[in-house]
Amino acid sequence: MLPSDKNPGSGPVDTSRSPHAQWKTLEYRNVSLHEGFWKRRVAVTRKTSLRFGFRMLERAGNLDNLRIAAGLIRGNYRGYVFQDSDVYKWLEAVAWGMGREADKELLSLADQAIALIEAAQRPDGYINSYVQTGESPEAWEDLDFGHELYCAGHLFQAAIAYQRALGDRRLLDIACRFADHIDSVFGPDKRHGTGGHPQVEMALVELYRLTGESRYLELAKFFIDQRGKGVMNGHRSYGPEYHQDHVPVREVTEAAGHSVRQLYLASGVTDLYLETGEQALLDAMQCLSKDIAETKLYITGGMGARFDGEAFGDPYELPTDQCYCETCAAIASLMWNWRMLIISGDGCYADQMERALYNNILASPALDGQHFFYINPLMLREPRYLRLSTDLPPSKVFIPNERPEWHDCACCPPNVMRLFSSLTHYLATHDANGIQIHQFAPAEIERDLQSGQHVKLTIVTEYPWQGQIRLRIEETGSDSWALSIRIPEWSQNPTLSINGNTVGEPNFEKGYLVLDRVWQAGDVVDLELGIEPMLVASNPRIDATRGCLAIQRGPIVYCLEDKDQEIPGRLLDVEIDQNKPLLTRWEGDLLDGVIVVEAEGQFVDNEAWHGHLYQPVTSPVQGATHPARLVAIPYYAWGNRKIGGMRVWIPEKSS
Ligand SMILES: [Zn+2]
Repeated sequence: MLPSDKNPGSGPVDTSRSPHAQWKTLEYRNVSLHEGFWKRRVAVTRKTSLRFGFRMLERAGNLDNLRIAAGLIRGNYRGYVFQDSDVYKWLEAVAWGMGREADKELLSLADQAIALIEAAQRPDGYINSYVQTGESPEAWEDLDFGHELYCAGHLFQAAIAYQRALGDRRLLDIACRFADHIDSVFGPDKRHGTGGHPQVEMALVELYRLTGESRYLELAKFFIDQRGKGVMNGHRSYGPEYHQDHVPVREVTEAAGHSVRQLYLASGVTDLYLETGEQALLDAMQCLSKDIAETKLYITGGMGARFDGEAFGDPYELPTDQCYCETCAAIASLMWNWRMLIISGDGCYADQMERALYNNILASPALDGQHFFYINPLMLREPRYLRLSTDLPPSKVFIPNERPEWHDCACCPPNVMRLFSSLTHYLATHDANGIQIHQFAPAEIERDLQSGQHVKLTIVTEYPWQGQIRLRIEETGSDSWALSIRIPEWSQNPTLSINGNTVGEPNFEKGYLVLDRVWQAGDVVDLELGIEPMLVASNPRIDATRGCLAIQRGPIVYCLEDKDQEIPGRLLDVEIDQNKPLLTRWEGDLLDGVIVVEAEGQFVDNEAWHGHLYQPVTSPVQGATHPARLVAIPYYAWGNRKIGGMRVWIPEKSS
C-alpha cells in the first residue's frame, strides 16, 4: 500500500498546527533525496539494514516473545524487558523507508510483525510481551524498570509512521487502544507515577497531533509533571537522576543522569511547549541546552561521558577513551534539537544536529549496514579493551574485528534505521514567509506556501565533501517569498551569488541567510561555504584533550587510525604540527569514498620514559623524533577495515 497523494502526511514530527512553532515541518513527501552522500546511506539502510534487522529480531527472540504473548507458541521470554521496542523501532524504519517506494518482501515481513502485535494485544488494549509472557506478575508492577510506557511510546511512533508514510492505520488502531488503556489507568485522579525511561511523552504529543485527541496531550503533560518527585530509587547507586526523577522538569538547570533518558525527556518537554506555550518549560530546556553545549558535548556530537550509568558527567568531564557517547543519545539529541530549532528559528540547534549526524550517529553503522557500534569512543588505545555495549557478557568484551552485528540491548541499531529512513524530514521547514534549508543534501523540495503559490526547488551539492551548494528555483508564483539557508558554524567566509551576481551583504538572521525576493523559475542561488580542513582546540578545562588538536573539515570530524600511519602501533607517541598546512585528497576506493586529510607531525621516542610511569619533573628529556605525515580519515568511517588503534584528539607538537 502506498501513501495517497490526496492524504499526504508529515514526517516523524508534525508542527503544522503547533501554535508555538516558529517554523512548520514539511510533509513527508515534500522532500526527496537525489543521488549523493545521504541517498547512498539511505539506500544501504533500505536494501540491507531493514532485512537484516528482521533477521536479528527473529534471532534475538523479539518476535517469539510476541508469539508467546499471543498464545501462538509456547516458550520462555528472551532478552531485556524492553525487547518489544526494537520491533516497534524497526517497523517505524520500514514505514519511513517504504513510503516512497514499496518493497513487497519487506512489507510482508513487517506485516508478520504487525499481525503478531495485533494478536498479542489484550482486549483491554494493553500490550507488552514481557508482562504477558508471565515474566512480570502484573502490568504496571514495576514502573521504574518495567519499560512498559517506553515500549508504548515506540509503538505509538511506529503507528504514526505507518499512518503518515503508508496511509495504513492498522498499527494506529492498536496504538490508540493502548493509549486509551494507559489513559484509563494513569492520571491526576487515577494512578500516579510514570515510567523509568522517558520516551512516551513525545510519542503521546505526536499521537495527539495526528489524531487531535486532547487526552493524549494531557496524558503527556501528566507524565512530565510526575517527574522530580524523588519516588524512583534509581539504578544501583546512580540516584534518582538515573531515571530523571531528581528534579521537576521546570526546575532543570543542567544535564544529569542517563543521557538517553535525559534527551528523550527533553524532546517530550519541548513537544509539550510547542503545543501549550508554557514558558517555564522552554526556560528549562534553554538552560539544559546551554549546559550541554557549553560543558558536556563531545566534538562528535556525542553525549554521555560516563560508561557508569550511561550518564552525563560533570562539566568538562569529557574523556576520549572511556567515554560512552551512546548512539541513541546522539539520535535523541538530534530529535530534541530539531524541536528547539522549530521553536526558536536559531541555527545553533541545526548546527548541533549536523555535528551529531555526521559524526557520532554516522559512526554507529558499519558501511555494510549490518554491524553497529553502541558506544562511540573518540580514542582506542589497544584493540583488546574496547567495551562495545552496555553489558555484553565478559567473553564478548574483547574486541572483534568489526562492529558487532547486534547487541543484547539492541536499542541503537533500529534507532539508526528509523533515523536514516526518515532523514528527509530534517532537511527543511516552511513558514508564512517561505522555505528554510537546514541540512544540505542533493534533494528536491516542493511546497504550497501559505500565500497560495506553489514552490519547487532543487539542491545540487557534493556536500559534505565540497562546500558548493546550488539551489535552483524550479517553480514559483509571482509573490515574493524568503529562501533561508543555514550557514554552518564552521563556515568562516561564505560567499553568495544569485544568477551569477555576487551578493555582498545578504540579510543574516540567527545563523541563516534570508533571501526575500520575487523569484523566477530558473533562478540560481550559489552558496560557497568554504570547506577547508582546520584544526580545532578544546576548552582547557577539558583535561582529557588539553594540549591536543582535532582535525575537522566541514561538518566531518577526522581521526587517525593506526593502520594508515607510517609507523604502526605508535598512536600514543604521535604529535601534530599546527603550523604546517593540512592537505586533502579524494580516495574513491577507500571506505566507500572519502576525503583523506594529511597533516605534518612526528612520532616521539620518549626513550627517557621507557620503564617509567612517573619521574621527577627535572629528569625526562625530550626523546628523538621522527617526522611523519599523519593520515586522517573521517571519524564516522573508523573501524571498517579492522578495528584497531584510533584517536580523534592529537597532542600538539611540543617542540
Ligand atoms: Zn542505544
